[in-house]
Amino acid sequence: MPELPDLEIIREVLAPRLTGKTITAVEVVRPLVVRDLTGQGFAETLTGQIFAGVRRRGKVLLFPLQSGLTLAVNCKLAGRLQHGLPRERRLSKTHVVLTLSDGHELRYSDRRTMGQIYLATGLEAIPGWSEMGPEPFDLTLEDFRERLRPYRGEIKGVLTRERAVVGIGNAYADEICFAARVHPYRKRSSLTEEETARLYEAMQSVLREAIATLRERVGTQIHREERDFLAVHGKGGEPCPVCGGPVAEIKARGRVTNFCRTCQPGGLIRT
Ligand SMILES: [Zn+2]
Repeated sequence: MPELPDLEIIREVLAPRLTGKTITAVEVVRPLVVRDLTGQGFAETLTGQIFAGVRRRGKVLLFPLQSGLTLAVNCKLAGRLQHGLPRERRLSKTHVVLTLSDGHELRYSDRRTMGQIYLATGLEAIPGWSEMGPEPFDLTLEDFRERLRPYRGEIKGVLTRERAVVGIGNAYADEICFAARVHPYRKRSSLTEEETARLYEAMQSVLREAIATLRERVGTQIHREERDFLAVHGKGGEPCPVCGGPVAEIKARGRVTNFCRTCQPGGLIRT
């Protein structure tokens, strides 16, 4: 699942490549991910539109168009964007292909068909838009405490709640908990002031460092999901980079959680 760092890189790569370009053709290969909120027809309305920029809000990539409409992409679990020339091989399960006036294509593929591509007149028409919490980089420590306060459950789950703070998913929540030395299953209501401060600092540093690393590794290959540089997520059984002990792995509710029992003590009882 693309999270804030992945999407920031996609935004950085696409902004100079799309801005000012005209969409000359729209091919909807598989219509299930397409949501036309204009009522005017997705392909018909999008053809001829000019990109005005690329933005990100939470886990949604926004492509404002010069007409005032917005194309919004929520990749959900497995959606990917690909930018390249027509001769470059399409990813499997490519759903939508936009041809650009410079000869490139912007493609959306999704092997789970769970993502959504909206064409909207106003952003508030996008489901869940108004419920989104603040961006991590906009939060002060005091804001962060306030955002977490209403939630009493496991801290990892709280960090992934879009109403609390946006952009953090399963992978980066594990990384933030590890960097903060907080067990992911600790109840939010049990955290000390100091532990919450550590989580705040870890959220800032983990996300910023990941953006810097991804910028180097992904380049223009924005369809690639780079995760092997992470400290614990996806590293079950491998040595913890801090203490050398094995990274623990727990699968629950379809999600994998990785952490270090030595570096992140507590939270042993889980019901
Ligand atoms: Zn450790």
